[in-house]
Amino acid sequence: VTFDEFDFEPALEDSLVSMGFEKATPIQGKAIPVIMGGKDLIACAQTGTGKTAAFLLPVINELEKNPSEKIRVMVVVPTRELALQIDQQLEGFGYFLSVSGIAIYGGSSGANWETQRSALVRGADVVIATPGRMIAHMKQGYVDMSGVTHLILDEADRMLDMGFFNDIMEIANQLPQERQTLMFSATMPPKIRKLAKELLNEPEEITI
Ligand code: AMP
Repeated sequence: VTFDEFDFEPALEDSLVSMGFEKATPIQGKAIPVIMGGKDLIACAQTGTGKTAAFLLPVINELEKNPSEKIRVMVVVPTRELALQIDQQLEGFGYFLSVSGIAIYGGSSGANWETQRSALVRGADVVIATPGRMIAHMKQGYVDMSGVTHLILDEADRMLDMGFFNDIMEIANQLPQERQTLMFSATMPPKIRKLAKELLNEPEEITI
């Protein structure tokens, strides 16, 4: 599948060309139409399959079509490394677009708390966060989540292995009920099914 088939906004098509993306990977070919159709999604996909672009591209396209002042997309990830990687891909695609992202993660020093706080107060289109640190910021009361339309859980199985079930639920419960929720996981054990049941509404299921 080539990217023209998705009918992306022209600026996003230009940015795909500049990134050297020509053909969609299998997960992208399956996930992008489902996400653009507004449905919830549970996708079984490993790292290296292009899963990040599979959720970023439709979300960027939506932001390009309908810009917003508020935080629109909450991406929850298990590690700081993954948060930074996703933020970098977003910045790469966003080069020709006005899409902005913030990575929020914990660390032993906690030194970047203030930077993260002011970034969250200023706002961005996409927040990419590890669960514990995100909750800590949300509890302070300065994060406006009222405009969030998309919740994305990446590497959900890893997050559950790290004991983040309650944290994920706590974040989800503070977001608007009416939203699209997307879940990506490398494996589909019963506890992933349970999380999906809690968070997803009649999801499409994709395996590659
Ligand atoms: P991921 O599985 O999301 O970690 O992506 C793996 C790598 O593949 C990243 O460096 C992406 O930039 C790259 N990539 C993802 N989709 C495509 C595509 N359709 N064409 C070329 N490179 C891609």
